[in-house]
Amino acid sequence: MLGPVILAASRSDRMRRLISAAPVTRQVVDRFIPGETVGDIVPIIQGLTAKGLELTMDVVGEDITTPAQAASARDAYLELIGRLKELELGERVEMSVKLSMFGQALEGGHELALGNVRPVVEAAAAIGTTVTLDAEDHTTLDSMFAIHEELRKDFPQTGCVIQAYLFRTEADARRLAADGSRVRLVKGAYKEPAEVAYQQKHEIDKAYVRILRILMEGSGYPMIGSHDPRLISITQELARAAGRKLDEYEFQMLYGIRSDEHLRLAAEGHRMRVYTAYGTDWYGYFMRRLAEKPANLRFFLRSMISK
Ligand code: FAD
Repeated sequence: MLGPVILAASRSDRMRRLISAAPVTRQVVDRFIPGETVGDIVPIIQGLTAKGLELTMDVVGEDITTPAQAASARDAYLELIGRLKELELGERVEMSVKLSMFGQALEGGHELALGNVRPVVEAAAAIGTTVTLDAEDHTTLDSMFAIHEELRKDFPQTGCVIQAYLFRTEADARRLAADGSRVRLVKGAYKEPAEVAYQQKHEIDKAYVRILRILMEGSGYPMIGSHDPRLISITQELARAAGRKLDEYEFQMLYGIRSDEHLRLAAEGHRMRVYTAYGTDWYGYFMRRLAEKPANLRFFLRSMISK
């Protein structure tokens, strides 16, 4: 029951101020968001790629309120891509972007977000990599899919994310699988109402498997965004049944979660991509990680009390 409460707190400005100011927070946050600047994150990228892992980078910060902040978000990605070019790491590291951070929720937001994300997609393509559009709450998805379709006209490798907990997702998966798109499938991390989303874990897990089957049997490139051991072995079975080779799908997990499993799957010859977030506006991302596993919240509270 704690998950929904934490997700509600993730939208509260008061909680944001309280938690962001707590002196111990940074130590706990580091487990999931291991840096605030490009300078902090480069050694992490180099360390993970040296271990045979690939990355997708998220510059955190979804709650922007002005077009200028949206432009800064775009520039932060462009700075990172510039650094990856110098390091010649373009082919190992892709970008994950949240369109809210590029202005999607502001007035004229659809066009604003498209205008901000396009240069990032272009810069990524120029260094041999690509961008995946993260999925946020269900009210943002029609706009996200329309932007995805628009970007794919010039950059067909642009990916998007679908969330197994939403009723709409099987239909989205069918469309994207037939279009040959790169698609990351996740369970879903937002607080969604019962009118649009499954609420029970077993229902979400069953939907995940149904959608996974659609993606594996389609002509796209499935990216399995989950730490769930059962879903990882089902993925391997379904990939074999669909005749997919190891480079025709990939696993993705979040930085700081089941890190041994990242290495195990990479050692088995799988493409394993670590979703790595960095930046100063980490509150929303951090709270979603707490909501996924109440033990994280207990650890966080204990470290606050023991100081
Ligand atoms: P769960 O059943 O939640 O977890 C399985 C096991 O993984 C747990 O038992 C535990 O051992 C471990 N685990 C999972 N989460 C945590 C955690 N926070 N801390 C510690 N251990 C944990 N969601 C979106 O809505 N939109 C997105 O764009 C999006 N992108 C994602 C990208 C990637 C690469 C990944 C891996 C997840 C993404 N998510 C996104 C989050 C996703 O929706 C889930 O909330 C999250 O992955 C937890 O679900 P799970 O599949 O790992 O399964």
